[in-house]
Amino acid sequence: ICWSEKGGWHRPRVSPYGPIQLDPAAAVLHYAQEIFEGLKAYRHADGSIRTFRPYENAARMQRSARRMALPELPVEIFIDSLKQLIAVDADWVPSAPETSLYLRPFMFAKEAFLGVRPAKKVAYYLIASPAAAYFPGGVQPVNIWLSTHYARAGKGGTGAAKTGGNYASSLLPQAEAHEKGCQQVLFLDEGKYLEELGGMNVVLVKKDGTLLTPESDSILEGITRDSILRLAADRGHQIEQRPITLDEWREGAASGDIVGAFACGTAAVVVPIGRLLGEDFEIVHSGPQADELALSLREELTGIQYGRVEDRHGWMVRLDA
Ligand code: PMP
Repeated sequence: ICWSEKGGWHRPRVSPYGPIQLDPAAAVLHYAQEIFEGLKAYRHADGSIRTFRPYENAARMQRSARRMALPELPVEIFIDSLKQLIAVDADWVPSAPETSLYLRPFMFAKEAFLGVRPAKKVAYYLIASPAAAYFPGGVQPVNIWLSTHYARAGKGGTGAAKTGGNYASSLLPQAEAHEKGCQQVLFLDEGKYLEELGGMNVVLVKKDGTLLTPESDSILEGITRDSILRLAADRGHQIEQRPITLDEWREGAASGDIVGAFACGTAAVVVPIGRLLGEDFEIVHSGPQADELALSLREELTGIQYGRVEDRHGWMVRLDA
């Protein structure tokens, strides 16, 4: 779907997957004026195709658009694009356990213009790709590298938007994490407060069952995190969303007050954090309490997503009807 300053959103069409043409001066190639979303479609036992809280993705894409000086895509157009893609061939949605169709909506500045100002021509696309089970051999805890040299976002920056630049800046720290034998990187705000991983939010588990998660205007507001915290609140867990310092985690882990941590996001859903490694310290969570909680919340949420557990919050939205 195209957007221009004069014509608004126009020309929705579905076309076969393939390369797209861009002018070499397209603003996105130079100034990274682009945003995206990620969500999954699931095949239920009754054959229906459903997705999880897509209105939240639509709203987040609008917030990202405002920050990146892109036009807001109306929610109906966003939802309709998902339905239109499924209508082409619902067989794309795989049916093996824990598989899904990953949906990637994205928007970018396509105006050919080398001056630095918001583009007047923009394109919105949606592509899809079948996704295999994320943990084919069962969920494995991840080890995390604490990045102290690099920040992902700063105050007033683009951290809360789902925009490519945030991911570009996390590639080098992510590669560093791999060199240290870790799968993910954790970023701090102002060198002090927990922020998030390269592509997941983080939650700490206290001995009394309280869940702690960072509050910050420079992290991506994860839809998985919001859902997991709601399921935990339904079970009677206290939830605290507030700034959390690295020291609080280190001291809480040392005193036994913090018994574990997990990461969450659309791709992996929930994954326990085994170890946090820093330049000069290491936190090891070996107790089973937090891992069991993380895995049981994961089981409940994936149960809702795949239609095995009652969807009492009305989160699933049908795409094929
Ligand atoms: N933070 C970042 C930086 C991410 O890329 C993602 C994945 N979209 C998340 C958090 C988790 O968000 P969600 O639960 O909506 O997938």
